[in-house]
Amino acid sequence: MHPTHAAGRVADEHRYDEGSHVSAPAGTYTVTILNNGDWATHGTVMYDNAYPSPKHVKIAMNFFLLEGGGQRILVDTGIDNALDYTTPEQREEFGLTTHRTTVAALAEHGLTPDDIDILIITHLHFDHYVNAPLFNRARIVLNRREYQHVLLPENRVVLPRNSYPREVFAWLVDEAWDRVDLVDGEVEVRPGLRVIWTGGHTPGHQIVVADTTAGPVVIPGDEVYLYEHVESLIPIGNHYDLLRHVETLRRIRALGATVLPAHDIRIRDRHPSLRIGD
Ligand SMILES: [Zn+2]
Repeated sequence: MHPTHAAGRVADEHRYDEGSHVSAPAGTYTVTILNNGDWATHGTVMYDNAYPSPKHVKIAMNFFLLEGGGQRILVDTGIDNALDYTTPEQREEFGLTTHRTTVAALAEHGLTPDDIDILIITHLHFDHYVNAPLFNRARIVLNRREYQHVLLPENRVVLPRNSYPREVFAWLVDEAWDRVDLVDGEVEVRPGLRVIWTGGHTPGHQIVVADTTAGPVVIPGDEVYLYEHVESLIPIGNHYDLLRHVETLRRIRALGATVLPAHDIRIRDRHPSLRIGD
């Protein structure tokens, strides 16, 4: 964390070791698109107040590897059993046949979870966070509101266990606790790499903005499921604060950056090499 931006919330004594294994110039990153496979969900989850709402939408389970400044940074953790969340009818309808574990997705790039230095979690929904215990040495960057939201007892009645796996929270506050950096607002995690609290999709949702040699990149988590949300200003269906969410979409548009949606299968058409920057 950059002390001038962390405003005392992040333990500044934590050092992010300057390794020699990543060659990108300081302050710029390469981004690699990782994927656990595709699944399908209801149109009402995807789009706010849409009528008629599509019955199903095929979606991707994207997560992202950033390399630069001697660091390997993962944004969200992926989910290992994506196809388990689809019905046989959906699998038939969309031809969903493959998935890869997060370990396998990293292995395709010669990496293991222990190679990850920093894990940024956009929000604590299961498909973005459930694999966090794979990462034994990464510092974990999480928004404080998100943490408080899931742990305050009064919120538990509205947090379904299947979306908010409690055993992973137990791991977070016990085994991983010394590696957790709770952040507020906007924080420079490393030079050229920021997290920004948005709070539209979930109370403590944060997005990631990274500088690359191909220009700025936004990893918006679930504030942008699909390209049309940001490009046509169509709100997502599953939001905590609709006005903040729409404000976030406008803010992302104003950044003029390359946007990498969390769940759009078309990301592979727009970035066939699955890499941005270099
Ligand atoms: Zn989510």
